[in-house]
Amino acid sequence: MARILMNHVYKSYGKDNLYAVKDFNLEILDQEFIVFVGPSGCGKSTTLRMVAGLEDISEGEIYINDQLINDLPPKDRDIAMVFQNYALYPNMSVYENIAFGLRLRKVPKHEIDLGVKRAARVLEIEQYLDRKPKQLSGGQRQRVALGRAIVRNPQVFLMDEPLSNLDAKLRVQMRTEITRLTKQLGVTTIYVTHDQTEAMTMGSRIVVMKDGLIQQVDTPETIYNFPQNMFVASFIGSPPMNFIHGKLQEVEKGRLEFHTRRFALDIPTGIAQMLREKQFVERYIILGVRPENISLDQIVFDAFPDATFEGIHKTDELMGADRYIHVDAGTETNIVARVNPRNRFQDDEKVKLVMDMNKALFFDRDTNERIMK
Ligand code: ADP
Repeated sequence: MARILMNHVYKSYGKDNLYAVKDFNLEILDQEFIVFVGPSGCGKSTTLRMVAGLEDISEGEIYINDQLINDLPPKDRDIAMVFQNYALYPNMSVYENIAFGLRLRKVPKHEIDLGVKRAARVLEIEQYLDRKPKQLSGGQRQRVALGRAIVRNPQVFLMDEPLSNLDAKLRVQMRTEITRLTKQLGVTTIYVTHDQTEAMTMGSRIVVMKDGLIQQVDTPETIYNFPQNMFVASFIGSPPMNFIHGKLQEVEKGRLEFHTRRFALDIPTGIAQMLREKQFVERYIILGVRPENISLDQIVFDAFPDATFEGIHKTDELMGADRYIHVDAGTETNIVARVNPRNRFQDDEKVKLVMDMNKALFFDRDTNERIMK
C-alpha cells in the first residue's frame, strides 16, 4: 500500500532563484504506474530524486501514506530505485548482486535465498544466477537491476530512464515486462522517461512536464486526444500534430469557417458554438490536427465536403503500414498526413486532402492553451 502526495513542491539548486521544479502538485494512487515525461532538463529526475530522498526539497511537502517524508532518510522510505546505468557490482555474481541489499539489512540467509530465487523466476534469469554482469547482455543486466529492486519488496518503485541503454527491440520487450511486473507485484511506480512512446504505452497516467512545471496530468488517451496546450499536443504523438494558423470567420448565419490564406474549412456546429461562446469569432487562432485525421478517403470527403484543401506533395516517408506525406498547402509548415501506403505520389504532384473536423482542436494564439468548454 503506497499513496504518494506531493504538495506545492519546489526545488532550487542554487541561490539564483531558478527553480528546477516549480509548484509540483500530484496525488499518486496506490498501485498506480505513473510516468513523468518531458524534454531533457524539465525536472523529471529532480522530482523523482526528491521522492527518493536523494535531493532536499526546497519548499512544499511530500507524503507517503499520510507520513510526511521531507526529512526522512532515503533508507527509511521503503523505496527501490532502478537507474539507466544498472549500477551492478562487476565482481559479484547475479545472485550476489540481487542479494546485496538484503544482506546489508541482515535479512536471514534462507529468506534471502527464497527472495532472490523468486525474483529470478519472475524475471526469467534463473539460469544466469552464477554469472558475472559482464557475461550478460544489456537486457539481462537490466533484469538483474530490476531483480535487485523487487527482491526488497518495497512500497514504491522509482525508475529513471531504465531502458535508455537498451537497443530498440529490447526496449519494446522490456516495456511490457516492466508494466506486467509492477502490476503483478502491485507496487506503486513512478517511471521517468523523455520518450513519449514509453509514456503512452506504459503509464496508467502521464505527467507531462516542461521547464519545471506540470503541463498536464491525465491518462494516455486523454493526453493524446485532449492536450491542454500546444506543448503537450506537439510533444505527445509521432509524427507530431500539425498546427495551422488562420482566422475564424462568420460566413453566413450560423456557419463558421477557419480561413488560411489559401483555403477555408467549415467548422462543425458543436465546435463552432463553443468557439463563439469563447469569443474567438473574427480572431486569429491555431488549428491543431493529427496526421491520421487528414485523409484521402472518399468516406471522409463525403462526411466533410467543406473541409478539403489542396497542396503540393513534397516528401514521403513509407513506414510499412502507413505512409506519411508532407504537403505544401501554403501554410507556415508543410502539413503531414498519415495515409494508406497504397497511395503513391510524384514529387510536386497536386494532392487533395480532407480533414476530419470533429477531431480538429483549436488553440489560443496568445496563450497556446487549447480552447475548450
Ligand atoms: P530531467 O530529468 O527532466 O532531464 P533534471 O531534473 O535532471 O531534468 O534537471 C532539471 C534542471 O535542474 C536542469 O536545468 C538541470 O540543469 C538542473 N539540475 C539538475 N541537477 C542539478 C544539480 N545537481 N545542480 C544544479 N542544477 C541541477
